[in-house]
Amino acid sequence: MKIEENVPFSTITTFKVGGVARYLITLESLDDLPEAVAFAKRTSLPLVPIGGGSNILGPDGVLDAVLVRVQDDTRVFADETVTVGAGASWDRVVREAVEHGLWGIENLSAIPGTMGGAVVQNIGAYGAVLSDVIESVRVFDTHQGMVREVLKSQSAFGYRTSIYKSERDRFIILSATLKLSFAPKPNLGYADLKSLDASSPVNKIRDAVLHVRAQKFPDLSEFGTAGSFFLNPIVDADTARALQSRFPNMPVFDLPEGGIKIPLGWFFEHVLQLKGVRSGAVEAWRAQALVIAAHPGATSEEIKNFVAHVTDRAKKELQIDIVPEVRVL
Ligand SMILES: Cc1cc2nc3c(=O)[nH]c(=O)nc-3n(C[C@H](O)[C@H](O)[C@H](O)COP(=O)(O)OP(=O)(O)OC[C@H]3O[C@@H](n4cnc5c(N)ncnc54)[C@H](O)[C@@H]3O)c2cc1C
Repeated sequence: MKIEENVPFSTITTFKVGGVARYLITLESLDDLPEAVAFAKRTSLPLVPIGGGSNILGPDGVLDAVLVRVQDDTRVFADETVTVGAGASWDRVVREAVEHGLWGIENLSAIPGTMGGAVVQNIGAYGAVLSDVIESVRVFDTHQGMVREVLKSQSAFGYRTSIYKSERDRFIILSATLKLSFAPKPNLGYADLKSLDASSPVNKIRDAVLHVRAQKFPDLSEFGTAGSFFLNPIVDADTARALQSRFPNMPVFDLPEGGIKIPLGWFFEHVLQLKGVRSGAVEAWRAQALVIAAHPGATSEEIKNFVAHVTDRAKKELQIDIVPEVRVL
């Protein structure tokens, strides 16, 4: 187990801003778990799991916490199943699955972060969602002090959520098992992919997703970001109808688990006209306003102020409450 002190958030999050985390533990093996938990107890600091830091905004000062990161990045393919260590780069998993000719996660190409973070957030993109292919998740349950296998049905997956998110910091995800398919299952309903032929091979779909995403998101080598900063609001039918009567062109999406998803990006672009709006070193991204980008020199405080301003405008001008998808530490 490796313990580092005063680790800059600029080096462990894709926002690349902020101060330092008091401690960062890298779990090199399962055997490190009891010691890591004991270390956090001794320091009386909360234990906070972290993956690739692509959905986290750290504070400008010192975060008094013990961040814990799982190193295991193994990927074991067996027929249509793949078991992936929590520390594996998610996009590497997608690339390798596609190389194996396996379908199911190609639409989730190029999402930054790790397997562990992907499970917590139940990542989704282009009409696909991770929980569609999750079979089980192996966790260390810090309440019970033991390793457990949690089935998909016990994981409370929903829109960008899971039990691993709602019971925050209780579980350290160690690995996940995905069930993919050799039988083609093209998922081309999303507008950006509609031009693809239904007989396209899986690698062609991945390439198309990579291409589309490269136009939409800031280049991480130049800007900091955590992708879409906000969740799309989920509302009931009455609220959706009321919004549609005010904004007749507003698209809506019915969620399989119930509720109607309001596309916040559409409001940001067409109603609040936020695309490319900049305040100091913070920008509502020019190609997708839901994405908040940090120009060099931005601070965490500046980002939070920008977010507060946008949240306020959504409340006043749209009468909707919006909440961050990004975890603000
Ligand atoms: C450019 C860009 C584009 C993006 N596009 C998308 C997109 O299309 N769709 C989408 O859904 N998301 C997207 N995201 C958000 C982000 O990539 C995902 O949420 C990602 O899955 C986070 O993974 P991570 O390993 O970086 O997690 P982190 O950011 O490190 O952590 C996220 C959460 O998971 C917890 N966590 C992390 N690892 C573990 C673990 N092993 N055990 C327990 N808890 C853990 C953390 O405590 C935190 O609450 C994007 C982000 C960026 C920067």
